[in-house]
Amino acid sequence: MLTPRPQPLAARMHASLMPDYNRKSTVYWWTMVALGVLATGHSIHLLWAQPASVWLQVVVGMSIAMLAGIFPVRIPDSKNSFAAGEIFIFLLLLMHGPAAATLAAAGEAAVGSYRTSKRWTSRIVSPAMAAVAMLITGLSMQATMDWLALRKFDNAGLLVVTSMVFAVAYFVINTVLVTTVPRLKRNERLQLSDIFGMFGWVGIAYAGSATVAVLLYLTFLQSGIGVLMAMVPLLAMLLATLHYFFRQQEAAEAVRRASSEAGERERELAARHVRELEASERRFHSAFTHASIGMALLSFDGGILQANPALSSLVGRSGDELLQQRFQDLVLAEDRPGLEEQLGLVSGHEFEGFALELRFSHSSGEPVWVATHCSFFSEPGASSPCLILQVQDITARRKAEEGLHHLAFHDSLTGLPNRRRFHEILSQVVQHVNEHGDAADPYAVMFLDFDRFKLINDSLGHNAGDEFLVQVSHRIRERLRPHDVVARLGGDEFAVLVRHLDHERSAVQLAERLMDALRQPFHVAGTELMTSASIGITFSALGYTTPEDVLRDADTAMYKAKGAGKARYALFDASLHTEVAQRLRLEGELRHAIDKGQLSVVYQPLYELVSGRLHGFEALVRWRHPSDGTISPAAFLPIAEESGLMVRLTDFVMHCACRQLREWQDMDPRHAALTMNVNVSGHDLAHPAFVARVTRALVEAGLKPHHLCIELTENILMARLEAALPLLDELRLLGVALAIDDFGTGYSSLSHLSSLPIDCLKIDRSFVAHLEVGSKEAAVVRSIVLLGQSLGKVVVAEGIETASQLEQLGAMGCPLGQGFHLAVPMSPQDVSSLLGRSLQISGLPPVASTAHASELLH
Ligand code: C2E
Ligand code: CA
Ligand code: CA
Repeated sequence: MLTPRPQPLAARMHASLMPDYNRKSTVYWWTMVALGVLATGHSIHLLWAQPASVWLQVVVGMSIAMLAGIFPVRIPDSKNSFAAGEIFIFLLLLMHGPAAATLAAAGEAAVGSYRTSKRWTSRIVSPAMAAVAMLITGLSMQATMDWLALRKFDNAGLLVVTSMVFAVAYFVINTVLVTTVPRLKRNERLQLSDIFGMFGWVGIAYAGSATVAVLLYLTFLQSGIGVLMAMVPLLAMLLATLHYFFRQQEAAEAVRRASSEAGERERELAARHVRELEASERRFHSAFTHASIGMALLSFDGGILQANPALSSLVGRSGDELLQQRFQDLVLAEDRPGLEEQLGLVSGHEFEGFALELRFSHSSGEPVWVATHCSFFSEPGASSPCLILQVQDITARRKAEEGLHHLAFHDSLTGLPNRRRFHEILSQVVQHVNEHGDAADPYAVMFLDFDRFKLINDSLGHNAGDEFLVQVSHRIRERLRPHDVVARLGGDEFAVLVRHLDHERSAVQLAERLMDALRQPFHVAGTELMTSASIGITFSALGYTTPEDVLRDADTAMYKAKGAGKARYALFDASLHTEVAQRLRLEGELRHAIDKGQLSVVYQPLYELVSGRLHGFEALVRWRHPSDGTISPAAFLPIAEESGLMVRLTDFVMHCACRQLREWQDMDPRHAALTMNVNVSGHDLAHPAFVARVTRALVEAGLKPHHLCIELTENILMARLEAALPLLDELRLLGVALAIDDFGTGYSSLSHLSSLPIDCLKIDRSFVAHLEVGSKEAAVVRSIVLLGQSLGKVVVAEGIETASQLEQLGAMGCPLGQGFHLAVPMSPQDVSSLLGRSLQISGLPPVASTAHASELLH
């Protein structure tokens, strides 16, 4: 079987090795290979018996032919090459017959096809075809030569012609065999042009080769193999030289062509670049002008160099107007610093560009939200780089975002901030206080809850409940300052953040106002509703670190308020609660206390320590509270100061004291020298009509001014010394005496003391209390006494509680003293009876007398 039924393996091999071979071309290929093997085998068989010298010549000739196949002499500017190997194939044909030529032809074709083709199918079939073609040609030529020789046509010229004819014949047969393959593959018939078209020139070269071969053969015949052997290398060298010469020429030509092409390409490229630049510039300007987003070119300081119409309409200003501005000036003042900073960074080459969301002030006054993108820009052809700005209107997006934000952070019913938002704001406030301390910016948080909301909801329905909550939110909001925040935490729970709290009392007062407002009837769903709120309050003074803690405590306080009977407020911290509540109540009551005659004055006698003689009194105010009993001045004086009641209080004491002294002086001429000390506060010193008030009290009582001594604490005096000096001078002029109270506890410098218009120093009772021999306090008291002596000022020791203190003070030479050991502050009646009982001024102190004291005082 010539073509076996394709087995799977054969089929696979065929598919991988001869994928483009159809059935016909496959058959043809195998046939040619088989014939080639036969031709080669037959040739070897024919040469088998030849001597070694012949074999040597065949091998040498074949080798040269194959070598020539490796170095073909390719003709420049053509695809053809000069097959120099043919010369030796024909020489072998002439010398040793068709068998030798067939082997050489096969060898040369093997090398040639190996060089020109990568496919094994070609590499195998080419030498086979060459062998077949040469065997046919050789045998035919031999037959022709034999036939010619028989007819005696055997001259050299005929040999040349015959050789040329058969060389061409060899070429034609070989070409036909070779070109049949692609024709068969494509199922086409063989064309004449296949032979003469592409290989025509090679045919002539074959004829030439044959001629050279004949010449060499003739030389061999005449001169033997030696000359031939000598000529072969020469020829080989000639061919090799030609080969390399042409190759070099080819290479030089290629370089020349390539370089001229490159130059051309470069010029072409440059021209194209310019064209592209121009086009891109045109495109840029067109894009710039027609862009739907705002665009501008800016100098590095923000000056607008160029602006497109879209930007003009975005800011509502004409192009010309824009060119006179800096970009920053188009932006709202709040957004300007951020922009300036970014521009600075880009100009300083720290960034390539930036993106910012900003607000433009549109000429209509409406802010326009824009997303800006600004980057370095060097315009094609422009001399210096600038900035390019792209501006996109994002107002709609921002509005949507704000809407969403509002939805997320506000209560939809009342429009108030919701729990989340409240928490957020409170976090910031808590953090601020944590960082800067409570004193920097104290706050309070209230938790409000309605006492009957569930009842409203259940009896009138949810719509009425909603309506009620909306009205509640209005009432609360109306009573807050702009920086306070009210939020609806859910249901009927509201929270209030009271910021920038000046005093805790302010928050409590706000809570009272809110409770008042919420107690007023509501008109909901045609019904008049009465309700009340319970409020829990907590203060930043408790040192909160998280908003959760604040809300928790306010909530706790609110439950406390509910538990205590609803419709009231409660403070979170119990001690804070009583203190603040007490102060608040007292403040309200103090206003009426003066009118209601609840204030009174008691008098503590002052004695001359050496003689034991009564010198005068200190007037001390008392509040006889109807329910709380007598309240000490330490408890209510600060309230009077804070609530502006101090001036009335002083006037009251001053008038009482002056009238009282005058009364006692009038009782007996021996009392005429008694004096009255009255305490005044810082508020009095600052009061513009203070001297007039004192004068009036003196005049009304008919008291001589030098019987009145005004006491000022050292701290008050020193805090306001500058402002107080003229006033003190006026009082001095009036004839009123001045004393520094609580002397030694403040910071009055001695230099001041000598120049101040002061008559008396009252040693603070804390020094007297610690009088023991050798103590630090004893030294202080002694030096104050000495100071008084040297400056000519009267010294009074306060708070003498023991006989030992009295004794020591007397020994130190302290002229005057007061204290529980000598006499407690007394009501006017007690003083009157004292004075009446003992007309002897130097009588025993009536109260708190001790054996020791009486000894001393007698
Ligand atoms: P102060 O001016 O130092 O008054 C003396 C205070 O010492 C009085 O207290 C008096 O009762 C108390 N005292 C007297 N002897 C002794 C003693 O032996 N031992 C102790 N521990 N205390 C003694 P009071 O009346 O409670 O007054 C307290 C302060 O209130 C006064 O201190 C004074 O600064 C102020 N004050 C009292 N009345 C008035 C007033 O009418 N006007 C003003 N502006 N201040 C007043
Ligand atoms: Ca005093
Ligand atoms: Ca005092």
